[in-house]
Amino acid sequence: MSIKMIPHSRPVISNKAIEAVSAVMASGLISQGKVVRQFEEAAAKRTGVQGAVAVNSGTSALHLAILSLGVKAGDEVILPSYLCVAPLNAINYCGATPVLADADPATGNIDPDSVKSAITAKTKAVIVPHLFGTPARINEIKKLGVPVIEDCAQAIGARYNGQEVGSLGDVAIFSFYATKVITCGEGGMVLSNNEKFLSFARDMRDYDEKEIYKPRFNYKMTDMEAALGLIQLQELDQFIAARKKIAAYYSSSFAEIKVKLSIPLPGCEPIFYRYILQIDSHLEDFIANMEQSGIACRRPIFKPLHRILNQKGFPATESIHNKAVSLPIYPGLSQENQGKIITAVKKNLSQL
Ligand SMILES: *Cc1c(COP(=O)(O)O)cnc(C)c1O
Repeated sequence: MSIKMIPHSRPVISNKAIEAVSAVMASGLISQGKVVRQFEEAAAKRTGVQGAVAVNSGTSALHLAILSLGVKAGDEVILPSYLCVAPLNAINYCGATPVLADADPATGNIDPDSVKSAITAKTKAVIVPHLFGTPARINEIKKLGVPVIEDCAQAIGARYNGQEVGSLGDVAIFSFYATKVITCGEGGMVLSNNEKFLSFARDMRDYDEKEIYKPRFNYKMTDMEAALGLIQLQELDQFIAARKKIAAYYSSSFAEIKVKLSIPLPGCEPIFYRYILQIDSHLEDFIANMEQSGIACRRPIFKPLHRILNQKGFPATESIHNKAVSLPIYPGLSQENQGKIITAVKKNLSQL
């Protein structure tokens, strides 16, 4: 990658955030402590839930969320095929069996009808990711009567019928990895209105000084990370506003060319974690040509899970995966670079 390359994603770290992290470092109290608690309280308040438990990654948060529902070896957990492997890993850590659902062609999110067909007597949970910052049709999935884990790794701040994602399922998770909407470098969080799930996660993330022994984890977040997360959370609304503005610019610029965009469902307020174009053919060429133009574009999902697990079917997932490409979109993307991206997309599409 040349120096001039426009990266696919990039965090915004304000001076205020640098000062907050520095203050924690200077204090000498750098591991899990009061700043983690402040971050948890602020995130729970923002999301509109009873409580939150900060951990060291979104994957750890998923692991604890699944365990908190009592999922054991032999149980089945439903998740969409069109997803990264992190949730699949978390299910496998529990010894449970992953059962895949197909995608909703309108958004790429999990399809409620496909979830319904995947339910068996062994189903103990369904993971509902809000991919690309666009809320999934979670209300229809909740009606199926299976406990819902909301995966909000890409969607913090998005709203569904006026409610923040993360407050809609039985338990929810955030990721604060460097490329996510807000970041701690690495980090994650379990959120819920159910005190039982929260106290389970709080107990299991830390192995030290417990009266009764059982195998626990070391999934703790540091106060240095939480200091960054706390400031990022304060800046979240600015970040979302910037993302929406870029998305609106892209959408108006691409209105006349033959590309399909993912369209949010009625009542949904997406945050444009990703801006996805669907290109009917020669996707690899398009991505390579954009790279030549100095712009890093990506397939938004590296490989659908049904391909990893050697399963057949999943026509909507196949169709989206074969066409979807993610353009750079983040608060620090300059007006000039937005213009360069639009020009390059138009040029490279016309040459396919
Ligand atoms: C990033 C991500 C995760 C995993 O989070 P990590 O913090 O990287 O462990 C899980 N689910 C989705 C949808 C993600 O985008």
